[in-house]
This record gives sequence, C-alpha cells and structure tokens, in this order.
Amino acid sequence: MLCPVLVTNHVLAGAVLGAGPLAQRPARAFATGVVSHFVLDRVPHWGDERRSVFLVTAVCDGLAGLAAIALVARASNRQRPAVLLSALAGMAGGAFPDLDKPSTLFFGRSPFPARFDAFHGRIQRESPRRLPQEFVVAAALGAIVALLLRGSRRS
Ligand SMILES: [Zn+2]
Repeated sequence: MLCPVLVTNHVLAGAVLGAGPLAQRPARAFATGVVSHFVLDRVPHWGDERRSVFLVTAVCDGLAGLAAIALVARASNRQRPAVLLSALAGMAGGAFPDLDKPSTLFFGRSPFPARFDAFHGRIQRESPRRLPQEFVVAAALGAIVALLLRGSRRS
C-alpha cells in the first residue's frame, strides 16, 4: 500500500497545528496531527505506483521530513518550550499513520492492524501528475510554520 502524500507535508501540517491553534497542548496536537494525516490523504495528491519511483521519493521525502523537524526545533523560541513540544507532538501525529512504510520496508510488516492499513489505503486519491502540487503545499505549509514560530518568538 502506498501513501504518497509526502510525509514532509504531513509533518509540516502537524507543525502548523502544534505551533498554531494547539500550541502548548501537545496531546491534542498529536491527536489532531493524526486526524490531519487522514484529511490530507483524502485530498487529491501525488502518487506513483512504480516501486522504484516510490522508493527514491520516499527516501528523499523521509530526509526532508527529518530536516523539517530539525528546522522547526531550531526556529522555536527556547523561552517557550511548550510551543516546541506541541509542534513536535503535532509533527509526530502527522507522520504516525505512515509508520507502516518504513516498518514494511525494513521489517516486512506493518505495526498496525490489517483493517487500519486497508482503510488507510482505501482513502487515497492519487495521480502521478500531482508532484508539483506537493511542492507548492510544502512551501505554503513551511511559510505558515515559519510565521507561527516567528510570532511565538515575539511573545
Ligand atoms: Zn497516509
């Protein structure tokens, strides 16, 4: 099963939630991050069934997602660790449903029940022509996160 909304975009959406409306509420940021994952999976997005394309993209995307986490942590106000914690929780929640991808690749099985994975696969709305859309969404979400973190640095 593929889930080609870039995980970077799931991570950035979680950061928007955790640094914005759910700042200083990490448990809610995590849970809402998980919900945001499924909402984004329902939005028409990029997907390519070719395994070689998917694997190359997944590695680059995974590294970009980790870089996004590091950048959010670096940009956060050290005087307001609760905002950083909720942003990290939102990012973790946003990425959580995709744990089956690395788990299946490295360990040969998903950590989730089969029904969960079946649901996750059923809700996808993919097209191989939508990769540029993923980059536009990433840029927009990144800009929003930067604005939210800049605002939290001032207060
Ligand atoms: Zn997904």
